[in-house]
Amino acid sequence: MSETVKYLLDESRMPKHWYNLVADLPQPPPPVLHPGTLQPIGPDDLAPLFPMSLIMQEVSTEREIEIPEPVRSIYRQWRPSPLYRARRLEKALDTPARIYYKYEGVSPAGSHKPNTAVPQAFYNKEAGVKRIATETGAGQWGSSLAFAGALFDIEVEVFMVRVSYQQKPYRRALMESWGATCTPSPSERTAAGRSILAKRADHPGSLGIAISEAVEIAAQREDTKYALGSVLNHVLLHQTVVGLEALAQLEMADDYPDVVVGCTGGGSNFAGIAFPFLGEQLRGGRPVRVVAIEPAACPSLTRGRYAYDFGDTAHLTPLTKMHTLGSTFTPPGFHAGGLRYHGMAPLVSHVSQLGLIEARAYHQIGCFEAGVQFARVEGILPAPEANHAVRGAIDEALRCKQEGVSRAILLNLCGHGHFDMQAYMDYFAGKLSDQNYDEAELAMALSGLPSVAEA
Ligand SMILES: *Cc1c(COP(=O)(O)O)cnc(C)c1O
Repeated sequence: MSETVKYLLDESRMPKHWYNLVADLPQPPPPVLHPGTLQPIGPDDLAPLFPMSLIMQEVSTEREIEIPEPVRSIYRQWRPSPLYRARRLEKALDTPARIYYKYEGVSPAGSHKPNTAVPQAFYNKEAGVKRIATETGAGQWGSSLAFAGALFDIEVEVFMVRVSYQQKPYRRALMESWGATCTPSPSERTAAGRSILAKRADHPGSLGIAISEAVEIAAQREDTKYALGSVLNHVLLHQTVVGLEALAQLEMADDYPDVVVGCTGGGSNFAGIAFPFLGEQLRGGRPVRVVAIEPAACPSLTRGRYAYDFGDTAHLTPLTKMHTLGSTFTPPGFHAGGLRYHGMAPLVSHVSQLGLIEARAYHQIGCFEAGVQFARVEGILPAPEANHAVRGAIDEALRCKQEGVSRAILLNLCGHGHFDMQAYMDYFAGKLSDQNYDEAELAMALSGLPSVAEA
């Protein structure tokens, strides 16, 4: 029997709907609160920031939401993405485990982020929006939205976390190639940025600050909206196309995962691969272990508090209940920039609270080690963020070896690392450290959480 390496779905089998986990949950997620009144917000409260179609997806309880044809047409540029069986990695590890990876690095921007950038640009275009302001960490989201903006003729303005702006100049060049503008954050362009710079002129920035800047810009003009590349329900929804394809591809492989592994920054690529399998389980199908891997230097799921908090540092957003390190927490400048967010997606936090998923925190050097080991057998060089998922999957495979059992492990290889070569150079030069966050800063950030009576 020939040993299949790639499971490829025909374009005609690309999902026609996204999957909404909320429909199958035993308890609905807690409401989003207005920071002033502490009452649940309504769709109209979000209308200055997002087009109504995305707001309706944000609060939807429908199980399936149709993917509009113009979005599917662009998805076909790289979707369905391949599912690989990591046969060489299995051999190298000498494990009885069956390891599968869904490869999202085939998208134009090189990560899973265009899966939501394209529909977000589409719905904004439909609503007559001319300009979108956003933030980006490592530049994956900024470049994905720049790509989507180019296709729908929408101006894209990106605030990029300063430390990443310096570490990853090529991602900025990529954004500019697609016609977007990119400003290092904190910047002098907004009140939020100016107030941070006044306190610390060399501030490295954080996603929380960059979000404040983008929200401020979006609120200034009628024709400008804001977009977020992770965290929100509608973003997680769009990413489920990944897991839905993987379900069909594993069926081609006549297999089913015992374990699903993803890395978590804001939670979107993890939710994208895991939620369709969790849904199967919740509807009476096969149970699956779902493991979220986060960076030890920004450990919202494992060390954060499950509490109402702001999504940004300047406190311009509504309050959502999530695992959070506190909105003023600034993680150290480690290389997986996409994982440097103080909070976790409310929906991922909720399923964690329901006991449906596990979480582990890893230091960066072990993750780079795993990524290099992966590249030397599978060829693909993962993004530093994806290395966390690779580390998690390898550890699961080694556990199989120890226990002498064969389990199927599915991981989301959410992006390639071609624009992260400085990180690899630093790793090879021995310049990386397993930096920790500052305990005093974490305590301070947590003590600043808004006091909200538990809903
Ligand atoms: C943005 C990004 C992440 C982190 O975001 P999630 O919403 O947690 O997926 C992880 N990996 C890559 C490659 C990214 O671009």
